[in-house]
Amino acid sequence: MHPTLEQLQKILDLELKSGCTNKAVIGGLPKMLSYWEPNARRANFPAGFVDAAVERIRAYPDVPQDERQTALQNLLSLIKEAETPPVVSAPAPREVPDKPASAKPAPTPIAAPRPTPPLKREPAPTPKPPTPKPPVQPKPAAAKKEDEHPAPKPVEKEPAKEKAGAPHPHPHRPHSEMMYTREEPLDPRPRRPVGPQPLNAPKPIKPDAGLDAPLTVLHGVGPEYARRYEALGLTTLRQVLLYLPRTYHNYATMRTINRLEYGEECTVIGEIHSARTQRIRNGRNTMHKIVLADLTGQIECSFFFARAERTLTPGKQIVVSGRVDQYLGRPVLVPKEWEFLDQHLLNTGRIIPVYPLTEGISQHHLRKMTAQVAQYWARKQPDHLPRGMVERAGLLSYGEALAQIHFPDNLNSLEAAQHRLAFDELLLLQLGVLRQKKDWQASLGQALEAPQLWYEQYRQSLPYQLTGAQQRAVQDIRNDLHRATPMNRLLQGDVGAGKTVVAAVALAITVQANAQGALMVPTSILAEQHHHTISLLLQNVIKNPAVEIRLLQGATPATEKEAIYAGLRSGEVKVVVGTHALIEAPVEFANLGLVVVDEQHRFGVAQRAALRNKGTNPHLLVMTATPIPRSLALTVYGDLDLSVLDELPPGRRPIQTNVIHAKERERGFAFIRSQLHAGRQAFIIFPLVEESEKSEAKAAVAEHKRLQDQVFRDFKLGLLHGRLKPDEKEAVMTRFRQGDYQVLVSTSVVEVGVDVPNASVMLVEGANRFGLAQLHQFRGRVGRGAHDSYCLLVSDAPNPRTDERLLALEQSQDGFFLAEKDLQLRGPGDFLGTRQSGFADLQLAKLSDVKTIEKVRREAQAVFATDPELKAPEHQFIAERLAKFWQIGAGDVS
Ligand code: ADP
Ligand code: MG
Repeated sequence: MHPTLEQLQKILDLELKSGCTNKAVIGGLPKMLSYWEPNARRANFPAGFVDAAVERIRAYPDVPQDERQTALQNLLSLIKEAETPPVVSAPAPREVPDKPASAKPAPTPIAAPRPTPPLKREPAPTPKPPTPKPPVQPKPAAAKKEDEHPAPKPVEKEPAKEKAGAPHPHPHRPHSEMMYTREEPLDPRPRRPVGPQPLNAPKPIKPDAGLDAPLTVLHGVGPEYARRYEALGLTTLRQVLLYLPRTYHNYATMRTINRLEYGEECTVIGEIHSARTQRIRNGRNTMHKIVLADLTGQIECSFFFARAERTLTPGKQIVVSGRVDQYLGRPVLVPKEWEFLDQHLLNTGRIIPVYPLTEGISQHHLRKMTAQVAQYWARKQPDHLPRGMVERAGLLSYGEALAQIHFPDNLNSLEAAQHRLAFDELLLLQLGVLRQKKDWQASLGQALEAPQLWYEQYRQSLPYQLTGAQQRAVQDIRNDLHRATPMNRLLQGDVGAGKTVVAAVALAITVQANAQGALMVPTSILAEQHHHTISLLLQNVIKNPAVEIRLLQGATPATEKEAIYAGLRSGEVKVVVGTHALIEAPVEFANLGLVVVDEQHRFGVAQRAALRNKGTNPHLLVMTATPIPRSLALTVYGDLDLSVLDELPPGRRPIQTNVIHAKERERGFAFIRSQLHAGRQAFIIFPLVEESEKSEAKAAVAEHKRLQDQVFRDFKLGLLHGRLKPDEKEAVMTRFRQGDYQVLVSTSVVEVGVDVPNASVMLVEGANRFGLAQLHQFRGRVGRGAHDSYCLLVSDAPNPRTDERLLALEQSQDGFFLAEKDLQLRGPGDFLGTRQSGFADLQLAKLSDVKTIEKVRREAQAVFATDPELKAPEHQFIAERLAKFWQIGAGDVS
């Protein structure tokens, strides 16, 4: 019999035997539904069985005493019917084809010596039905005092005996904790739904408050909390509704204690049978050990929070999500989340959201808040998409998607919600791009002419000859600038391909044609560096660089900012290089002719548009190293012309890349020393150890000190991390570039664009923790001069030679190749995912999701073809959303 059916049958038998007093389950029969129903829904029982069973169990307490026996017998015969061989696609778990049913081996009791938990995963020769792993044998619940809890007797003394049919765990059984992050798209295979978990959050205090009401209308949010939430940008209920989880934990797998499996993440409902508190090691902290019991068994569970002793007392019913482990040969449940059973299950027993946090706010608190808002308001949100589009595209309604994205009923609905919201983002992006293209095509800018003679002279003045690819790109750009229709060009080139000089040529043309140029970059390190490089490359075009080429960042002193603003307004400043500070309100240009955006994937469409709007249809050049396939680039950028730098500057030698084990680190350091003695410089990068910037900075400081004092005593080491102020970063970079520092120790802030040609070695600590794309970017910081260059990838994984991502880096330096490799290895996400290549505006959409992008594109074009101005009534909401989406997201993130 299917274990789930068997379980139900046993409870019913017990109930019959104990005189139909509704005591076979602690708290009454319906209590069992919380764990039984999800399991039953997952099994492939005949249609209607689970619904019927659930309904009757729920109604059982109301059945008059003298009718209960019949009710139970009816239920039992229902079970008999359900037991008929299930559909072919999912036979009952224990009917393992290659084992004769009669030869059921007794399970190995887990308490017996066994070297490792049974977690081996072997490829199955034929698709098998899900077979349960041997269950953990519970401590017999019979040990409980009968007078205290008459009901929770074990149904069976040796529950494990006939339950385990297979000698080892089934290889196909999905791991019960699945994490779905935004970067990792959901497995597209259909899943059986996990039983819907009722979301039952308290109603907000003032349910009629509009979505613009402050957070303080909610339960549990006073002025102090409201202030803390401000740090997350949450001040109104609407913002809470739109505050999306970063990832999810799947605690939807409910288990009875006798069915627990080692290594599994799951949720158990039970009563605290006994509890005791012990001091641990240092004598200051305590451990609160409870024995959790349900009707099938008992398991130990330890808690470490301060008030555990007072909170978790015997007799309380709790829900615990966690991992099953063993301690001294006995099964224990290592709790990750817990709640009282009579509370609203927000943190256990379901797929739970994990939100980005800030100091002073816990997941629990935030969940309580999002639950109130999502439950009360989400489904009341009007859908901004026309009904027809929602139906054609097979989307969830907007309100449903908002509800499900916070507290999904099951994995399918989570996937559907993510799909719906991603669709919205892409649609707004695509409509905006289409509209922009139309506007641009109709608009008139200024022609920036570069006479051939001037150009030849200028080219001669450059420190090196342009590569063929650079010349072609420059030619494209000259042709574009020459016309009055504004240029719209994407310059794509792998790291180190030499994009900066192409931008410099475009800026030079602009300046000699008496217009102004602006170059926007994502970080202050890069702004400072580009300011430096561009000043050199423009020295023959500009007489007084100190006045005419300026650097503008958030941290630029106020008086200097004023001077720059004034210079830009009067036209005295010819070129400005800067961060997001360039799009702030006081920036106005006398005659902005060209906008260049470097590392453009770090910006949102809105920010690009904002800079562009500072002029009257200026020309636009955006640059990226992200290897986006052409088809995709055209879809997402819609309207950009493309130039590709597919050739590296001459004299580059391949960067020799080696993956080394953490134990070989000393050899890596010795190698770096030999390079330093030869006059070269080095980068040492280490991963962000902690989530917060503060502790990251602390770790960086310590590591720098250790390396300086112990490893590189004869050299000077600079330090770069995210907490430094922009001018401090600038000072460090300048000293490194000038050779005052031989080594730059840095966190990942050094990633994009940094160019110090004398640096020949890059050592990356914890390389296994970085993505391929990021490692490729790091590595691009060396091999930029004529020296032989090296990249040492230090992995702290036990066996680095099996890390295919790292080996791919050893093998190739081609960004396109690596992107493809990454796609193969991890699925879309790293190279093409939102984080690395994507747009600041996209939270859920993935640029790798070509199918959705195409669907969106069809819909967007259809809307645009009939109603480009979005004037039709059914497009009103879209028009509003579009306006908001394209609003400026200002602020200096450098
Ligand atoms: P990226 O495309 O990654 O932005 P950069 O513009 O920073 O690359 O250029 C990388 C390095 O190559 C710089 O040190 C630059 O001076 C050098 N470089 C660029 N073009 C050439 C060239 N044609 N010949 C020699 N060196 C070049
Ligand atoms: Mg660059």
